[in-house]
Amino acid sequence: MSDRYAFRLARATLAAEEAGIAGLLVTPGPDLLYLTGYAPLPLERLTLLVLAPGRDPVMLVPVLERPAAVASPAAEGIELLAWSDGEDAYEAAARLLGAGRFAITDQTWASHVLGLQRATESCSFVPASAVVPLLRAVKDERELELLTAVARAADSAFGDILGAPFAGRSESDVAADLAEALRRRGHESVDFTIVGSGPNAASSHHEAGERVIGDGDAVVLDFGGRAGGYCSDITRTVTVGEPAAEFLKVYDVVRRAQQAAFEAVRPGVPAGEVDRAAREVIEAAGYGDRFIHRTGHGIGLEVHEAPYIVAGDATPLRPGMTFSIEPGIYLPGRFGVRIEDIVAVTPDGAVRLNEATRDPCTVA
Ligand code: ZN
Ligand code: ZN
Ligand code: ZN
Repeated sequence: MSDRYAFRLARATLAAEEAGIAGLLVTPGPDLLYLTGYAPLPLERLTLLVLAPGRDPVMLVPVLERPAAVASPAAEGIELLAWSDGEDAYEAAARLLGAGRFAITDQTWASHVLGLQRATESCSFVPASAVVPLLRAVKDERELELLTAVARAADSAFGDILGAPFAGRSESDVAADLAEALRRRGHESVDFTIVGSGPNAASSHHEAGERVIGDGDAVVLDFGGRAGGYCSDITRTVTVGEPAAEFLKVYDVVRRAQQAAFEAVRPGVPAGEVDRAAREVIEAAGYGDRFIHRTGHGIGLEVHEAPYIVAGDATPLRPGMTFSIEPGIYLPGRFGVRIEDIVAVTPDGAVRLNEATRDPCTVA
């Protein structure tokens, strides 16, 4: 087994012990991929990795998926127990678990959790995010390289879209151009291409619709995908033709808020302080009630993961954590502005992984 997975498995088991739980239960998805390099489809047949303090890792797999599990990077260090159709996988899991309080992958299907609850009398289950929320939060060097590469690919896609025609085309048409640019710049998949124009830009998660983009519109472009398994996520707000004076005023506030949050990042600072730094700038400009979401979210194998940059969050930032800083101001019925970069915490501050310009940009 590679050192990377052995290290992660050992660290996750230790985290479970420190959290005072009987074990960590991991089903297919980002946690299993992170811990073992094994990425089966999440399906109705139970695959369950059990990490319990004082025991070696064991994974229950459907017998027909055993060969794939054996071929996965972490197989050497994990005991594989196969179950066959006709057997009760949850009874098999219950024999492994014994008793106690277990943390289970947030994305585990309800059918699996309910199956485990039925088969186990003296076990209880809590979401992993509630007990070991930072399992994947601190990135290693290779992860930082992959996140940087995918961020740069998204930057290049933004550069490409500046040359596309906007006026007279629908948001969906521009979104299709963005998806194509992301792929051309090395994304293996495209997860979202938000294009919010004019009044739609004031709706922070508006996707892309049939509205025809007009001259003078502000357009929020928020897009991302994956390369090498890691996610990109960037937002820029552009105008079609010359921006109005009020747009530039709001844009300047958002840009200063984004910079203030970036400058607040360093090891030991609570995540909520970074939110506070952005919010203070927007409040001072009189738009406090128009900044209607948290400042950011962690990013890695998932586009939204811990840590969350949200008011009151006490999680101390650590070198290697990666997250978005994406303040916005939304004026209902009129326009909105959001600027988003992914940043990484360094030993003495932070670096931006996105390098696309934050100057106001115009499109045709
Ligand atoms: Zn979002
Ligand atoms: Zn975004
Ligand atoms: Zn984001």
